[in-house]
This record gives sequence, C-alpha cells and structure tokens, in this order.
Amino acid sequence: TDRTLVLVKPDGVARGLVGEVVSRLEAKGLRLVAAELRTLTREVAEEHYGEHRDKPFFGSLVEFITGGPLLALVVEGPRAVEAFRALAGATDPVKAAPGTIRGDFALEVQSNIVHGSDSAESAAREIGLFFPGLS
Ligand code: ATP
Repeated sequence: TDRTLVLVKPDGVARGLVGEVVSRLEAKGLRLVAAELRTLTREVAEEHYGEHRDKPFFGSLVEFITGGPLLALVVEGPRAVEAFRALAGATDPVKAAPGTIRGDFALEVQSNIVHGSDSAESAAREIGLFFPGLS
C-alpha cells in the first residue's frame, strides 16, 4: 500500500470543508495515518513548493499557503497518490470535473482547496517535510 500527503489548504479550512474532504477520501477507502492542523512558516512553504520557485505566481502562492491554518494529512491505500489526485480533480477548478473536490467547491487556480502529492517520490519528500517523525 502507498502513502500520499494531502493538504486541506487555508481556503478549504476557512470555508469549513475539512469534514467534506476527509469524508470523501475515507468513503473512497483511503485511510488516515497522520493529521495536523497548522500554519506553515514561510520556510516550510518555500520548501514544499520549491519546484515553483521561478514561476510568476510563487510569491502569491507562498502568501496564500501561509495565510492561515491548513490541515496536513498522510493518507494510505492502494495507489494512494493517483487515487487522491482523482478525487481532487484538475489543478484549475474550472476545468476540474464536477464530482471532484475542486470541481465541486472551487473557481480559482490558486485557492483550489486541496493539495495531493503528484508522485511516489514527491509523496516521500513531502511526508518527510511535514511529518519528520513518521516511520
Ligand atoms: P498541488 O501541488 O497543490 O496538488 P497541482 O499539482 O494540481 O497542485 P501545481 O501545478 O503543482 O498543481 O501547482 C501547485 C499549486 O500552485 C496549485 O495547486 C495552485 O494552488 C497553485 N498554482 C498553480 N498554477 C497557478 C497559477 N497559474 N496561478 C496561481 N496559482 C497557481
């Protein structure tokens, strides 16, 4: 079984969508391994989004993701990375299919409710960054 890092981003927490997201992933059959509500430091945010450092939206993205508490989750299950990304839908919520989390609850590409690791390698890196004590 695989693990992935899921974030309910600050917009999702502020809008009261934590239960909705957790409910959808649990209903799918994925299981929670770790969970923590926290506000990211700039350092952790910049590390997490390191691959976007040179993009024009990087500064805005870091402001957004550090702008309030988020819920960090480690989620486990068969093909967990792919399974959660299917639940989340496309990065741009307007293009995300209805029935997906972004397709049902968001309109803007930055404030798109959730994050899910995009590969097994990213998942290992991101889980290490958010939950260094987790075996
Ligand atoms: P995530 O990594 O959060 O699961 P993703 O893999 O679907 O999202 P990426 O292309 O890695 O998408 O972008 C990471 C995040 O950066 C997006 O989820 C979104 O919040 C933000 N983002 C991406 N593109 C833009 C953009 N053009 N303008 C503003 N924010 C953006």
